[in-house]
Amino acid sequence: MSLTDITTRIARATKAHGRANASVRLIAVSKEQPHDRVLPVLHAGHRLFGENRVQEAADKWPDWRAEFGPLDVHLLGPLQSNKARAAMELFQAIHSLDRPKLARSLARLAQELGHCPDLFVQVNTGAEPQKAGILPDDADSFIADCRALDLPVLGLMCIPPVNDDPAPHFDALAQMAARNGLDALSMGMSDDFEVAIAHGATHVRVGSAIFGARR
Ligand SMILES: *Cc1c(COP(=O)(O)O)cnc(C)c1O
Repeated sequence: MSLTDITTRIARATKAHGRANASVRLIAVSKEQPHDRVLPVLHAGHRLFGENRVQEAADKWPDWRAEFGPLDVHLLGPLQSNKARAAMELFQAIHSLDRPKLARSLARLAQELGHCPDLFVQVNTGAEPQKAGILPDDADSFIADCRALDLPVLGLMCIPPVNDDPAPHFDALAQMAARNGLDALSMGMSDDFEVAIAHGATHVRVGSAIFGARR
């Protein structure tokens, strides 16, 4: 697989499901990938990437921004409150807003810094004990609380349980977004991004299918 294979498949799935052209953004998930795999994707002109950890992103993206110009980098992994300031300075979006304490930290920092990345509320659609994300039953009230804090919540994000059919999880997330008036849906990874597009994904997060297996 390669970047162009994936963009072709995204375009095909977008069309097949009657979605508007360019309604799905590809986040190339570069976490844990060696630089010599990421550079060709930058040289090919791709400008939207995903990372899981603040420190790892801080180690590479400032240099690449200096070299390539403006780049959108989204945080996909869990965020500790004590790293929230660094995250707000590095990322254009955070997909892992998953608890009240983090919402309060982000709101306080947004006041102080005068800006805030786009936010996605992560929902633990499978209610897995080990997984991050707000539980589905708590999502509506959490979204309302985030809005009351003036946080720019753009949409919802989920990571379905590995052994489940992802379709019902994507469908549940889409319904939750619709009833809360949210437009963006961050869902779908290397193995299931076409299913996610069928269910309304606006942001697919594809790593290994573009860059190869992580070491
Ligand atoms: C690693 C990761 C991805 C990309 O996974 P692939 O299977 O390599 O496409 C997407 N989303 C999140 C939250 C991740 O942690």
